[in-house]
Amino acid sequence: MTQLDAFAALGLDADTLDALATKGFEEPSPIQSAAIPLLLSGEKDVIAQAQTGTGKTAAFGIPILQTLTPFQNRVQAIILAPTRELSIQIADEMNSLRGKRAHVIAPMYGGQNIDIQLRRLRAGVDIVVGTPGRVIDLIERKALDISHVDYAILDEADEMLNMGFVEDIEKILTFTPKEKRMLMFSATMPSPILTIAERCMREYVRVNVKNEHKTPDLTDQIYFEVRNEDKLEALTRIIDMEQDMFAMVFCRTKMDVDFLAQKLNARGYLVEALHGDIAQAQRTRVIERFKARKFDILIATDVAARGIDVNNLTHVINYALPQGAEAYIHRVGRTGRAGKSGTAITFVTPSEFRKLAYLKREVKGEIRKESLPQPEDIVARKKIQVTERIQKVVENERHLPYEIFAHELLEKFTPLQLASAMLRMSYKTSLLPESYAELSPVKPRPKRGEKDVARLGDVRLFIALGKEQGYGPKLLLDLLKKRAGVRPSSIGKIDCLDKFSFINAPLETAEKLMDAFRDFGHKKAPFIEIAKPVEEGAQKTKKKKEGEFASPENGHDLSTYGEADFSDVGFKSKPKFKTKSKSKPGAFKGEAKFGGKRKKGDAFYDKSGTKPKRKSGPFDAPKQTRKFRKP
Ligand code: ADP
Ligand code: MG
Repeated sequence: MTQLDAFAALGLDADTLDALATKGFEEPSPIQSAAIPLLLSGEKDVIAQAQTGTGKTAAFGIPILQTLTPFQNRVQAIILAPTRELSIQIADEMNSLRGKRAHVIAPMYGGQNIDIQLRRLRAGVDIVVGTPGRVIDLIERKALDISHVDYAILDEADEMLNMGFVEDIEKILTFTPKEKRMLMFSATMPSPILTIAERCMREYVRVNVKNEHKTPDLTDQIYFEVRNEDKLEALTRIIDMEQDMFAMVFCRTKMDVDFLAQKLNARGYLVEALHGDIAQAQRTRVIERFKARKFDILIATDVAARGIDVNNLTHVINYALPQGAEAYIHRVGRTGRAGKSGTAITFVTPSEFRKLAYLKREVKGEIRKESLPQPEDIVARKKIQVTERIQKVVENERHLPYEIFAHELLEKFTPLQLASAMLRMSYKTSLLPESYAELSPVKPRPKRGEKDVARLGDVRLFIALGKEQGYGPKLLLDLLKKRAGVRPSSIGKIDCLDKFSFINAPLETAEKLMDAFRDFGHKKAPFIEIAKPVEEGAQKTKKKKEGEFASPENGHDLSTYGEADFSDVGFKSKPKFKTKSKSKPGAFKGEAKFGGKRKKGDAFYDKSGTKPKRKSGPFDAPKQTRKFRKP
């Protein structure tokens, strides 16, 4: 069976198979195998449950694309997703699954200029992927008509529930026809979801792919904070520290694998590489040699390592974070088996802390932080090994010619001189702590409330509530928690000023907050929005206009909020919120992720979009934000 046969067997047409070949998918995931035939043939509504990262988008996306004919002059499918980011991601994935077909798939989410979306809808869209708030808005403006859809899909239904979208969703569904097919995809199935199903769905079938993987109990899971540029050094420290290591080291790409294998070989470590570009025969040879422990360390990609049944490894090292919990468990499950203990080591760079937090939660086992071994400790360890080796030789091997030579040498040198010279000759500098390069310190994460330090990747938000309304950090946190369901611990620095406040929060939390407060307070102006600092230049020339605040998107004039002292909140002067967002993307950390990098008007999200194309191979793709979405 060639790779795509398994897909073809599900009833996929040539266009889809072409698209899959381009995407580099090899075989359907379990949820795809279960859901695709059901959706292609049956009539019933479907509720499908499978873990995050298992390809649910394609599971519903492929059948929808195959059954809908483009250009019907109506919206034929409405897909609801909890966040802007996910809407874009789904539209993106569907566009890549579309292949040559002409379906127009458009993401519609809050935060993007609505005019762009209105224009787009007028031009004709087959499939709308939207966040509930924006979809309602578009329906109410009579711009979006979903009264003739064939499909209504709730993706990440559990997440939408968490975010309090239930009423919105039910409202949206009232605009859809009775005779449509309704699908729900979700990672978990809390009971309120089933309640919605009872209320809104016709007779439905449930598809459930259980996640049967679990990290082995005997695996000790630890992580190290390492900067990217220090990873090689960190790895060699670990290898040097461990005795009898029999390990697999996972990298993200083929290039990374080759690069690392080369570097380690150059440093004298016996390692081999394994990835998809290596010919099959060679791969088999490498695996056989590895199993026979002809070498101790195998550097591999996830895909190449799939199906290799070496499972008595002492260590699994995630040189790069895996794609998601599933991949993590897959990798890590190769150690700590059959009653043997093992260690899983994960390198985490400063910008990956959030992914780690998500991974920790998803994996449920404890992943504990450790510090990398210090050169002094490694050297002490090596010295013990050297001593043991000498001991063994002394005890077991008498070698007369060398003893005679030793006598001669001892006549010339003192024992001290002799032994140290021999050590020096055998071990060069490797028994000296100085032989280890220094690692640059990884900055500790600032705690909440610490002044003037933004956590990596955080977004700064403006909130139209301040001390004068009686809000200090604590009350503000309470409010955010109550209304948006965000965890206070996910919120960073908080600055409550007289008339308004600023908080730092990770992208996901920020999105959640903005969504949850979209209809809060004044209708005209966002209650929470991304704070934009003044551009350096503008600041000088427009000095006289100080005190004028306007929101990035719709001219929210906050001058009524009056004067406030910004001297301690990280702004050079009072912030000015500009009417049309012209400010430099990335002027604020995290801002660019909100689409700042895309040009105005460049809103359509399709193949030419800004996201990197997937590389080939299942779950060997470039990072998908969704996997680690939850902070
Ligand atoms: P989920 O919605 O279940 O969290 P996604 O649909 O976002 O998962 O898919 C996660 C990633 O896996 C995406 O990059 C997607 O392109 C990829 N993917 C999906 N199906 C397959 C497959 N059969 N083989 C390889 N990669 C796949
Ligand atoms: Mg999904």
